[in-house]
Amino acid sequence: MIKSMHSLMYPAALVVALSAPAAAQTPSLDYDRLRDETARRLSEYIRINTSNPPGNELATARWLKEVLAKEGIEGQILDTAELGAGRANFYARIKGTGSEKAIALVHHMDVVPVSREFWSADPFGGVTRDGYVWGRGALDMKGHGIVQLMTFIAIKRAGIPLTRDLVYIANADEETDGLGSRAFIDRHPDLIKNIEYLLTESGGSRIENGKVRWYGMNVGEKQVYWQKLVVRGKASHGSRPTPFNPVPRLARILARLADWQTPTRVTPAVDRYFKAQAKAEAGDRRRWLADAAGALKTPRGRAWLLSDPDRNALLRNTISPTVLVGSNKTNTIPPEASAELDIRLLPDEDTLAFRRELLRVTADPGVTLTMIGDMEPRVSAPLDTERARAIERTAGRLLPGIPFATTVSTGATDRPYYAGAGLICYGVDPFLVDVEEGRRGVHGNDERVSIENLGFGLKLYAGVVQEMQGREGSVNREP
Ligand SMILES: [Zn+2]
Repeated sequence: MIKSMHSLMYPAALVVALSAPAAAQTPSLDYDRLRDETARRLSEYIRINTSNPPGNELATARWLKEVLAKEGIEGQILDTAELGAGRANFYARIKGTGSEKAIALVHHMDVVPVSREFWSADPFGGVTRDGYVWGRGALDMKGHGIVQLMTFIAIKRAGIPLTRDLVYIANADEETDGLGSRAFIDRHPDLIKNIEYLLTESGGSRIENGKVRWYGMNVGEKQVYWQKLVVRGKASHGSRPTPFNPVPRLARILARLADWQTPTRVTPAVDRYFKAQAKAEAGDRRRWLADAAGALKTPRGRAWLLSDPDRNALLRNTISPTVLVGSNKTNTIPPEASAELDIRLLPDEDTLAFRRELLRVTADPGVTLTMIGDMEPRVSAPLDTERARAIERTAGRLLPGIPFATTVSTGATDRPYYAGAGLICYGVDPFLVDVEEGRRGVHGNDERVSIENLGFGLKLYAGVVQEMQGREGSVNREP
């Protein structure tokens, strides 16, 4: 399996070198045994309740350290003082030749809380039933973290030669404030400085009624650009209106913002994403998805593309006014009124240019805009690196004939922190989960992952990690 994979990916000259004895000895992995072991490990992992709050990730970090110690891999429990009682990050590394930079497999150990009354299995029982492992985190994202762990272990056991170090990182607190990844990145620049690529959650694959419509590799995230908009007036009594009431002024500004049709554009990643979707459609829809930029210039194509909130959010910057504050008394005109705007910008958007446009549309020179929270670094990974193609090739081999899509997410994860530290971040899906099943389970009830999916995840990760190595190291060692 592994050898045939290499003959697919390397040019003829390298294949000759690879068929030399050193490469021919590359061991293959026993995926059936690994899959069953993965299911057992996942049950154990789920039994450690890391509902956040409070998190309790120190317990999972200790467990990970113990599991890896049995394999002769030394892990480190980190950042306990910074993260507070019962919390930790975890880190381990398998050394390669060091001829290329490292790859990190990253997951979060915390899970969202459960409403037990809606579950048909104990959410922290790690039950295996009907071919599934049940429990909170099975999909988001303990199952993914265990597939990464077993890939890491399998590569160590089999002695598969690495040119890139393989790094395993488990973070606390992704589900609330991202404290874990931030502490890890701030405090351990030495541990991340030679990591080039990071693989984590949210690939964006689409499975409907058991049919895989596309396999997704996530390459970007919209930028969170929350703003507080304030207008000032003059406080007075509500019984004697004046033109200086800031409340109607704010209402007029918000109406202008709500009417603003922000410009649409098709980024390269979204273009590829829509093109992959086009393959599963027919007629007009197929045409519009295959050429979204062209379709946006036609009334029908534009209306259809923007009619779906997901597609609309991928084609433009969006603004949702949410929190409003005016007076807290019926008879009092307040000195100021404010609104909070949930703004999400396209991954490559120029934030200063957008801010100028936003102020222009408010058409009110008295407006002040201030950022809510910090501006996170942008996540916009290149589409055409050799390593991105390694993911595409592996998925293509496991899912022949299924379109490969580069996806962009409208929500936020921990990735901006890692991207800010210079890592190229890709989201991949180790599981092919029906959209309905995902909706029910992720942050919901009866979360579970099939054992078959654990097997798929292992093949995907083991394939990707090995393809991402390249074999320059082994080739150079040939006499
Ligand atoms: Zn998650």
